[in-house]
Amino acid sequence: MLSRAWEWARRRRKPPHHLGGAPSGNTGTVFTGDVIDGKRVISALDVSDLAPGKHSFYFQGVQMPTGQHWYVSVMVAKGAAPGKRVGLISGVHGDEMSPVHTLQTVMSQLDPGQMSGTVIAVFDVSRPAIEAMERRWPNSGRGIDLIDINRLFPGDEDAPDAPTRHAGLVFNRLLRANLDYGIDFHTSATGMDMTAFHLARMDLPEVKAMAELYPIEQIFDNAAEPGLLANALIAAGIPAFTPEIGRPRIFDLDMIALFVEGTMNVLKHHRIIAGPIGRTGEDSKVFVADGMLAIIASHGGFVELLVKLNDAVEAGQKVAIQRNTFGEVVAEYRAPRGGRVGARRTDATAEPGIPIVFMIFDSAEPVGGDTIIE
Ligand SMILES: [Zn+2]
Repeated sequence: MLSRAWEWARRRRKPPHHLGGAPSGNTGTVFTGDVIDGKRVISALDVSDLAPGKHSFYFQGVQMPTGQHWYVSVMVAKGAAPGKRVGLISGVHGDEMSPVHTLQTVMSQLDPGQMSGTVIAVFDVSRPAIEAMERRWPNSGRGIDLIDINRLFPGDEDAPDAPTRHAGLVFNRLLRANLDYGIDFHTSATGMDMTAFHLARMDLPEVKAMAELYPIEQIFDNAAEPGLLANALIAAGIPAFTPEIGRPRIFDLDMIALFVEGTMNVLKHHRIIAGPIGRTGEDSKVFVADGMLAIIASHGGFVELLVKLNDAVEAGQKVAIQRNTFGEVVAEYRAPRGGRVGARRTDATAEPGIPIVFMIFDSAEPVGGDTIIE
C-alpha cells in the first residue's frame, strides 16, 4: 500500500520548476555557467544556435543522491552550410567500448568547413555504468539495482529513479529536437561475442537505406523491444537503428573500421559530407534475417562451442558440447533449423537457461533437415 500511495503522489507531482518541464522543441542551448576540464556545461542543446565548427560540451544529466550530476560528453560538428542532422550515440550500455571509439574516429574525420549539415556525437550516455564497465546503470534508490537504460527510453524527467530521469533528460534536451536521423551503437553483452551486426527496422525505407550502407556481416530485421533508444527515436519521427560492433569491453579495431566506413557512407548519403560512397553491405554480402532463436543451456557445465561467428549452420548440426567438472558429457546442442551464427557465448561456463548460441535466419526459407533438438 505504501508503494501505491507513493506512486499516486509521484504522478501528482509537477515537474521541478528549475527544469521547467520537458521542452517540446528547440529552446536554445542552455549554458549552466559551469566549466569542467575546459568544457562548458549545458543543460539543453539546440544546434541551430551554434556557430559553424566543432563544439565540445558536458551535458548536465541526472542528479545523484549527493546533489551532484552525472555529466555526458557531447560533441557537435556543425557545417558551414545547412543540411541534415545526424546523431551518433554510444555508451547507452556501460560495457560496450567499440562504439565510443567509432564515434571518436568519425568525429575526428569531419571538417565543418566542408560540411552541409550537422553531426552530433553523444559518447557516454550511461556514465555510472561506464565507470563500472557494466551493462546496466547501478541505481541507488533502495539499495543497488542494476537497471538497463535501453528499456526505458524515451524516459521520464519526473520519474522516481535516476536512469529513467536521465533517459528523459538525454532524450528531451539533447536528442529529440536536434536530430533528423539517429544511430545508437552497441556491442553484444558481457559473456557473449557477436558478428558485425545491425538491429534495424528494414520495413522503414529510410532506416533500410542507412543500414545497407555498412560493409558488415548481418542485419536482423526486427522491431525488438519497446524502450530501446532507437525505437523511441522512431516513435518521435526520427529514423534510427542499432549497430552492434562485436564483443564488449574491448576496442575491436578491425570491426570498428567497418562501422566508421558505413557511418561515413551514411553522412555522404545525406549529403552532409562529399565524396564517393565506400564499401557497403552489397560488397560484404550482408546476410539479412528476420528470425532469431537462442540455443539455451539445459544443464550447468563447461561449454565447448563447435561453431564460429557468422558460420552457416544446417538444421540438426551440433553446435556445442557441455561437460561437467569430470569431463563427462552432460549435454549436446544442435541447431533446430538452418541459419547463421549471430552471437555466441564467450564465458566457458553456462548454467541452465543461459543462451549459448544465437542464430539468425530468414523465416521464408524452409526449416530443413531433422528439426529434433536432442
Ligand atoms: Zn548494448
